[in-house]
Amino acid sequence: MRPIHVIGGGLAGSEAAWQIASRGVPVMLHEMRPQQTTAAHKTDGLAELVCSNSFRSDDREHNAVGLLHEEMRRLGSLVMRAGDANQVPAGGALAVDRDAFSRAVTEALASHPLVEIARGEIAAIPPADWDSVIVATGPLTSAPLAAAIRTLTGEDALAFFDAIAPIVHRDSIDMSVAWFQSRYDNAGPGGTGADYINCPLDRAQYDAFLDALLAGDRVSFHEWEAATPYFDGCLPIEVMAERGRETLRFGPMKPVGLTDPHHPTVKPHAIVQLRQDNRLGTLFNMVGFQTKLKHGEQARVVRMIPGLERAEFARLGGLHRNTFLNSPKLLDGLLRLKAMPRLRFAGQITGCEGYVESAAIGLLAGRFAVAERLGEPPRIPPPTTAHGALIEHITGGHVETIDAGPRSFQPMNVNFGLFPPLAKSPSRGRDGERLRGTAKAMAKRSALTARALADLDAWRSPMMEPQAAPLVPASDDAGVPEPHPR
Ligand SMILES: Cc1cc2nc3c(=O)[nH]c(=O)nc-3n(C[C@H](O)[C@H](O)[C@H](O)COP(=O)(O)OP(=O)(O)OC[C@H]3O[C@@H](n4cnc5c(N)ncnc54)[C@H](O)[C@@H]3O)c2cc1C
Repeated sequence: MRPIHVIGGGLAGSEAAWQIASRGVPVMLHEMRPQQTTAAHKTDGLAELVCSNSFRSDDREHNAVGLLHEEMRRLGSLVMRAGDANQVPAGGALAVDRDAFSRAVTEALASHPLVEIARGEIAAIPPADWDSVIVATGPLTSAPLAAAIRTLTGEDALAFFDAIAPIVHRDSIDMSVAWFQSRYDNAGPGGTGADYINCPLDRAQYDAFLDALLAGDRVSFHEWEAATPYFDGCLPIEVMAERGRETLRFGPMKPVGLTDPHHPTVKPHAIVQLRQDNRLGTLFNMVGFQTKLKHGEQARVVRMIPGLERAEFARLGGLHRNTFLNSPKLLDGLLRLKAMPRLRFAGQITGCEGYVESAAIGLLAGRFAVAERLGEPPRIPPPTTAHGALIEHITGGHVETIDAGPRSFQPMNVNFGLFPPLAKSPSRGRDGERLRGTAKAMAKRSALTARALADLDAWRSPMMEPQAAPLVPASDDAGVPEPHPR
């Protein structure tokens, strides 16, 4: 049987390749690293996590991304299996040891008899004899391929910026000032309730930090980047700070749900949190601290935070351009390019946002491609499921702008706003009591997720399910990443 070609061995491409091979169809996975790399990747591993090590909330009952995790598990996702097998404590979130996770994905694919991994950049539209191709080259698609896609679609692929957060060596954090605690002591999956390192700031320290942050030298824009807007979900801290002196206190530096054991009666004015980044617990990343400050400035400003005065950095933050298609216009409901249906797109380049969402769209693209190859009718998941809601966001439901302003379609994380409303929202609890406020909102989420999982199970057909294949267990020697090259 001719192989399906997958271009890009990131979150989406790895998952797509796994889904294809698991159905007994050969796949050739093209990954340009290590010959050619991106501004954010540092290794040659498949499914490398370029910034945070978190898959976000694992609460499948009340959180949309937690629901997506569960749906992916039920659909035989490699990314979720490798994530679950390599998780590190992170309160209510599913966070992973990034090196062990990537190694597990790489080893699972490399050892699959139907997967061939070809290292090298695909720099043009693939040849006509590649009759089924999944393009999963991500937000940092190499320039020649991006240019070829732009020419093919007749559009500018919209570009914007993401920024990455610094990673600090745990033993350089002053624990006589900082302390371990998860917000509201939330233990979550695999956590203890004390998984984050917290650094407190009083008002004067916060003000001084803010002034330094705002005055700090930033990486300047290239001419071609100057008009590129930020994506709101990944704003650099200095850009958040520009929006108002309280913005950070209501964002990544919010001081709620935490008590400083060194001074239990003093309420910190602001708190910086660091989350475990590797299984060894030797590295911690600064939560929400994406930044485009120059490296020297960054180290100086971060070391103004109490507890981080002597911080040593495994990686400093950076700024990166992102690329995504105007998918509602360019792609059909099965993620195929209308102008050239042998090309199918997956991952962040389609306009979803996040590791998990990218992998989920890779999972669907893989399944769609397999169904096509095997002559089966294509099956799109119901819009009431997290997968269905995401693909609906990508391929439909958007209006084109009617003036010269920016188009309406923007990358998005999965969220309950993408789901069709319930026919009837729950108004009473299990004991018949009338629900109000948070309890009502939580009951609504529970009803949405219960509906999603029931609909997903009905949609899954035994014929479609991948054969279970064992994951090669990842070893523990996670290794400390080299400092970020930029
Ligand atoms: C700087 C940055 C930080 C981010 N931080 C987060 C975060 O903290 N949390 C989060 O959930 N999401 C984050 N994202 C968003 C997004 O979730 C990730 O980028 C995610 O990895 C996207 O998955 P993907 O499979 O679409 O692309 P990727 O995982 O980037 O995979 C694409 C792959 O394609 C390869 N490739 C590119 N061009 C070619 C070519 N021409 N030929 C062959 N191979 C090619 C690349 O080397 C790469 O391996 C971030 C994005 C960026 C850019």
